[in-house]
Order: sequence, then C-alpha cells, then structure tokens
Amino acid sequence: MALTTYQAKRRELVEELRSKGIQDSQVLQAIGTLPREEFVLPAFKANAYDDTALPIICKQTISQPYTVAYMTELLGVQPGDRVLEIGTGSGYQAAVLATMGACVFTVERHQELHEAACKIFEALNLSIAAYRGDGTLGWSSFGPYQGIIVTAAAPDVPTSLANQLAIGGRLVIPVGDKDQQKLYRVVRTGEDDFSGEELEDFRFVPLIGRQGWEK
Ligand code: SAH
Repeated sequence: MALTTYQAKRRELVEELRSKGIQDSQVLQAIGTLPREEFVLPAFKANAYDDTALPIICKQTISQPYTVAYMTELLGVQPGDRVLEIGTGSGYQAAVLATMGACVFTVERHQELHEAACKIFEALNLSIAAYRGDGTLGWSSFGPYQGIIVTAAAPDVPTSLANQLAIGGRLVIPVGDKDQQKLYRVVRTGEDDFSGEELEDFRFVPLIGRQGWEK
C-alpha cells in the first residue's frame, strides 16, 4: 500500500478516535504520526488503521487504537515523565508514549516479542528502554515512575507496581477475571496512600507472572 494511503488512513483514524471521545491533542498527534502498519503482521497491514485489536506473534494482540488512546489519556503524560509499560507486545503503545515525549521503560515476558519490538524501535529511531522479564514485579532500578501502564489483564493490582509509583504518579491497569476486566486508575497520593477509580470495561490478554495469573 502506498505511503500516502497509510497517511490518509491515519488521519481518518484520528478523526474516528476524536468522535469516540478522545480529546488529548498530544495523544491524537502521536497516533496521527506513528506508522501502525509497522507494528502489525504483514498479513494485517491493510487493517492497520481499523479501530480493532489484531493478532501478533506469540498468540498475543496489539491493542485496539481506541484502547491505546483511552489508556494514554488517563495516564496524563507530560514530556519528560518516566513511564513504565508492562506488556510491550508489538511495541505500539510504548511508541505512542515515546512520541509524546515520555521517557519510556517497557517490559515483555516473551523473548520473540521483546526482540521484534526492539527492532522496530530502532528502525523508527525511538529511544525506549526495553527488557524481557516478569513485568508484574515492575522495573525498580529505573523507578519511581510518574506513570505505569499495564496492557494485560491482572487479577489484582500488583503491589510491586503500586510501590514503584512516584508520589502523584498514576497507574492504569485492567483488573478482573480472564474474560472481562474493568480499567482502574490508581494514584499515589502519599508515601502510603493511594486512591483508586474504576472506569470502563475492557478485554485484554492475561498478565502472567508472580503477581499476575499463574498461567
Ligand atoms: N502494549 C501492547 C499490547 C500487547 S498485549 C501493544 O501495544 O501491542 C499484552 C502483552 O503483555 C503480551 O505481549 C504479553 O506477552 C505481555 N505480558 C503478559 N504478562 C506479562 C508479564 N508478567 N510481564 C511482561 N509482559 C507480560
């Protein structure tokens, strides 16, 4: 598909997200700039700008653009913020955050996905720190974070992640059973104080790890 066609589709997607209620201009601008076609499997390039989740390798998914936009808006990212993402997957969500000027750290449990995402980050000249491991434990050496975003479904809020938030920092995470979750935003209001907000229903692949699902 010609580059101009992708550009036109990208613009249409931004308008669609706007009509669905996304208002943060930084989020819309990042989605309007990034080539999502580079993050999907070759067979799905023509669908890269449909507002749907798509399959990627390791039986995982690249999140629906609306979900990415909604969660990113909730994080309230400012340029220079340190943001930790759990569940690198295709790398698209991390790329959106980096395009918004965040200092991004991302963790993925599958080696193949981790490596594929690193290659895309390099090809697109995005400076993102990535590692392969159990993200339910966070990435403490680079914390605390102004934002933590979990893009897989957790049975509960992992305490390791809450503890790696800076005071005033936000954690956006889907919590529920394996079929259906509610999105939560947890704000660290003090050293030992957190406030939580329950938001919309979503459906994510499971978060598997020490403070997630066993399998
Ligand atoms: N943010 C991704 C969405 C990927 S789907 C994107 O933009 O494409 C969620 C990802 O979370 C999957 O790749 C899955 O392998 C990963 N995951 C699940 N449990 C994890 C864990 N404990 N640590 C790190 N990654 C995990």
